[in-house]
Amino acid sequence: MSNLIINEIFYSIQGESLSAGLPTIFIRLTGCPLRCQYCDTSYAFTEGRKMSFQEIIDDIKKYNCKNITITGGEPLSQKNTKQLIDQLVDLNYEISIETSNAISIEGLHELVTVVLDVKTPDSGESDNNIINNYKFLKKTDQVKFVICSIDDYEWSKNYIIKHDLNNICKILMSPSDGQMDIRILAENMLSDNIEARLQTQLHKIIWNNERGR
Ligand code: SF4
Repeated sequence: MSNLIINEIFYSIQGESLSAGLPTIFIRLTGCPLRCQYCDTSYAFTEGRKMSFQEIIDDIKKYNCKNITITGGEPLSQKNTKQLIDQLVDLNYEISIETSNAISIEGLHELVTVVLDVKTPDSGESDNNIINNYKFLKKTDQVKFVICSIDDYEWSKNYIIKHDLNNICKILMSPSDGQMDIRILAENMLSDNIEARLQTQLHKIIWNNERGR
C-alpha cells in the first residue's frame, strides 16, 4: 500500500499565493533537502509519521473543504507525492503544491497549481535551483521569489527577464520576514513597473505564525 511521511494535516486560511484568503486544507509532508536561512518550518525536516493514502484521505474528509495545499518541507522529496496528488484530483479536490525549485516538477498532474519557490542568493540555496524547471510551468502556475535584500530583488528581476517568466506564469514577490522592508520592496516594484504581485503572509497576520494555523 502507498504511504507518505506526514508532518501535519490542518485546516486554515491560505496565507500566500493567488489563492490567499481561501479556506484550505494543508497537507505538510516531512523532509527537505534544502536549508534556507529564513526557513520557518524546520520542524518538518524530520518530524512526522507514516500514513497510508487511505488514512490521509480519511483525515482530509473531516473538513468540509475542496481546496488542498500540499506543502512541506519539500513535498516532492518523497517519491509517492505525485501519486497521492493524482488520487486527490480524481476525488475532485482543487490542489496546489508549494515546492522549491530544487526538485523537478515534471510529471505533476496538469490540474495541479504549482507555486514554484525559486531560491534567491540570500536564501543560501540558489545553487540548488533547477535551471529548466520553469519549462514545466503552465499559465495558471506561479513563481515565487522570497526577497531578503535589494540584491535579491535585482537578481529576481533579472531572472524573470532572462527566462521570460511573465509570458509563462504569474509572478509573486514576498519580503522575507524581518529581513526585507515591505515598503522598500513595494517602492522598487513600482519604480521598475514590474509585472509581479507583492505578497504578504496572511496567516502570520491572523495567527502570528502559530503552528498548525
Ligand atoms: S525549501 Fe522550504 S522547507 Fe525547505 S528549507 Fe527552504 S523554506 Fe524550509
